[in-house]
Amino acid sequence: MRIGIPDQAPDGISPDVTAFLKAPQMLINGQSVGGEGGSFDVFNPADGSVLAQVPSGSEADVDRAVLAAKAAMAGAWGGMSGAERTRLMLKLADLIEENGEELAQLETLENGKSIMLSRLVEVASSAEYLRYMAGWATKIRGETFDVSISVPPGTRYTAYTRKEPVGVVAAITPWNFPLNMCVWKVAPALAAGCTVVLKPAEETPLTSLRFAELAREAGFPDGVVNVITGDGATGAALVRHPGVDKITFTGSTEVGKKIGTQAMQTVKPVTLELGGKAPMVFFDDMDLNLLGPATGIGMFFNSGQTCCAGARIYVQKGIYEEAVATLKAITSSLAIGEGMNPANQINPVVSAKHFDHVNRMITQGIADGATPLLDIAAPKQGYYVAPQLFADARSDTAIMQDEVFGPVATITPFETEEEAIAMANDTRYGLGASLWTRDINRVMKLVPQVQAGTVWVNSHNIPDQNMPFGGFKQSGIGREHGTGALDNYLETKSVCVAYT
Ligand code: NAD
Repeated sequence: MRIGIPDQAPDGISPDVTAFLKAPQMLINGQSVGGEGGSFDVFNPADGSVLAQVPSGSEADVDRAVLAAKAAMAGAWGGMSGAERTRLMLKLADLIEENGEELAQLETLENGKSIMLSRLVEVASSAEYLRYMAGWATKIRGETFDVSISVPPGTRYTAYTRKEPVGVVAAITPWNFPLNMCVWKVAPALAAGCTVVLKPAEETPLTSLRFAELAREAGFPDGVVNVITGDGATGAALVRHPGVDKITFTGSTEVGKKIGTQAMQTVKPVTLELGGKAPMVFFDDMDLNLLGPATGIGMFFNSGQTCCAGARIYVQKGIYEEAVATLKAITSSLAIGEGMNPANQINPVVSAKHFDHVNRMITQGIADGATPLLDIAAPKQGYYVAPQLFADARSDTAIMQDEVFGPVATITPFETEEEAIAMANDTRYGLGASLWTRDINRVMKLVPQVQAGTVWVNSHNIPDQNMPFGGFKQSGIGREHGTGALDNYLETKSVCVAYT
């Protein structure tokens, strides 16, 4: 439903947000531009209204952005020291905090998520992430090596490595944590000395566009940070642009495969952070008081629109009845409503298209024999999906194998550890998993058997800037966070010096 772009700030919405929504622009070579490809609508998932019209980046816009990023590498930015890059990044982190409420409101308006999540995760943790990565800019270093050959006789060699920025980075992000994903890519790229062309998801481009304005205000030279908006076609134009030196993508496995294939045509390094279908394994001896955080943070964080969402719950037989009753009670108590009201815990899913996808997955799950355990009503206007738990889901059906990416989880009983691990690993994905038990021996024995990039114990969905994050199997290639994130944006050059 289209209600129209608001002329005035609705109650509680900052006038800065309303002003920004009137004409959000792309950032190319330090200039705010409208683009050559027309525009597209951005919707408010809470009521289906149009929030803003955003430029649709054309191939020519992509070309200008990549050339600007290339020129910036060769210009002032390329000559800057790590310390100078650190200072700019710290300034940008401060600006994110100073404009935090505006960014948080924009995020909730375009994505639908709780304003609390927007404030704490999108804004506060993005500022911290920038600061963390800013610190690495002054700590990039190579190694020295002894060399054994002596040809021609009498010649000696010393070798060392230099870590050099890979160049122009194409960064493509999804809609579930828009500002976070932007910063997870842009911050390590800048720390490494690269320049960036970012293409945010078409559902949620607004905070990335505001981020670009703040980067310009922070004083980054023209062309260092460019943000192009558009759909998959704009992303594809960016991926195949010959001036791009590195691709970093977060999104679905399906699109990730296309991007990986395209990247190999020109042998470009590519980092892929893809989908997930995380298991949460509840053993008999777990602390049942943890079922609260397991539900709120593990299963339904961001209304289940989290790549690591605990979507497959496995419960040992001894606590099955009690755990299912508790999970049902907790889920039934969650308040459903718009994200601008911080009391609401389940918010609308991001778009009409995604609303249809989640509902289709629920219908398919029932058709495939799964039993819905809850009958909760959701608001009718906007893209609300009531949380749902399924029993009796067969492991070979879509509800167990494919991403629902909404407030939906399956619950399956198991008896032995061996059975639990086999069930947990029964997926093409391998992003996150969690084990819930008081037995440290069991933890140490089972962790190596879980096929996932992150295994949480008595917790779930807790990322940290210092903790490598990425996927096994079809959940991706490469790791973000920590020093590894920086390595994604650095080339290693060996230098071999002969002397006599
Ligand atoms: P998506 O793959 O549909 O889109 C992601 C981005 O890719 C968007 O910006 C889109 O415009 C762009 N795109 C689409 N087709 C393209 C093409 N052919 N070439 C280049 N770019 C293209 O994903 P989504 O629906 O926005 O996000 C949800 C997905 O993201 C889920 O699968 C989720 O698991 C995944 N995700 C993964 C992580 C992680 O860290 N592993 C984190 C968040 C989300």
